[in-house]
Amino acid sequence: MIKDRLGRPLLDLRVSVTDRCNYRCPYCMPRAKFGPGYAFLPRSEVLSFEEIVRVVDALVPMGLQKVRLTGGEPLLRRDLGQLVEQLAKRPLDLCLTTNGALLPAHAGPLRAAGLRRVTVSLDALDTPTFAALSDSDVPPEQVLAGVNAALAAGLGVKVNAVVKRGVNEHAVVELVEAFRGTPVEVRFIEYMDVGATNGWRRDDVVTADEILALVAARHPIEPLAAAPLGRVAERWRLSDGSGTFGVIASVSRPFCGGCTRLRLSTDGHLFTCLFGSQGTPLRDVLRGDVPGALEEQLRSVWGARADRYSEQRGEDSGDGPRVEMSAIGG
Ligand code: SAM
Ligand code: SF4
Ligand code: SF4
Repeated sequence: MIKDRLGRPLLDLRVSVTDRCNYRCPYCMPRAKFGPGYAFLPRSEVLSFEEIVRVVDALVPMGLQKVRLTGGEPLLRRDLGQLVEQLAKRPLDLCLTTNGALLPAHAGPLRAAGLRRVTVSLDALDTPTFAALSDSDVPPEQVLAGVNAALAAGLGVKVNAVVKRGVNEHAVVELVEAFRGTPVEVRFIEYMDVGATNGWRRDDVVTADEILALVAARHPIEPLAAAPLGRVAERWRLSDGSGTFGVIASVSRPFCGGCTRLRLSTDGHLFTCLFGSQGTPLRDVLRGDVPGALEEQLRSVWGARADRYSEQRGEDSGDGPRVEMSAIGG
């Protein structure tokens, strides 16, 4: 097991398999920046499945336990099932985060390829709010169909919802109630200042305490046991036993001390923090043929890590513009 400068082990890896997306969520890929003229990565710069698997295989002996495929929208990556099939053979907890729009068609084949769990992002159940938060024509019913297709295929399902003040607070109770009595757990995420384009203001963050108060005003709730290292959601149950939900308090109760996560961007840069500005390029090492060079690079990047951005939020880091979340995966 390798540890960073603050003693944190490297337990999970997020892999962004594409920087493209079929939504333009204003908090992640605002259309003003990611419009028709935006230069997405050319194919030659995108890591191949073979390269991704090599990185994963190098990290397993260093303690890696979990891999999450994300993006951009991972279901836009052609032949994603082939990557899933290869990774599913490794001794890892493998999951995928998706906006769900393409899940009705993909759930069955991904399960057949060996995927066990998906997280589906769904910020609201009503069409106007969903459209505002996804800036897409996809109806929320299509995402719900994706959730149902995933359940029918035998996948474990979680639902993620980002909560933004004045936009979707009403969706909090609606989502809890919609998934009550189902195996699906909803997790509410505090709106974060990722990237450099979403115009984040602290006032727009609906805090975890506010989210809990919204649920508690309608249903008695009780806390569940504290999460193990590396798990970021604080979990609660409805006291009548009809369901559980989580809050991810990245802004109001930062959890950098337990952050065990490394990110691999679509073009093969390693990021040790969601709020990094420059990653470490791996492509040359991956495309060269020096034995052991990849392992050495991975060890040195994790060994040098001292990030704790969310605990320092508001202090000037002096870094350059931050990387966009769609490139490194949320
Ligand atoms: N496209 C996929 C999706 O939306 O699920 C995967 C990539 S997306 C970047 C991963 C997660 O990051 C989503 O659940 C999304 O809601 C969340 N996210 C994006 N921007 C965010 C922000 N500014 N604050 C909090 N969460 C954010
Ligand atoms: Fe696309 Fe996901 Fe970002 Fe929304 S959050 S723009 S669906 S990558
Ligand atoms: Fe991890 Fe960086 Fe988020 Fe802190 S701010 S929890 S170090 S990704």
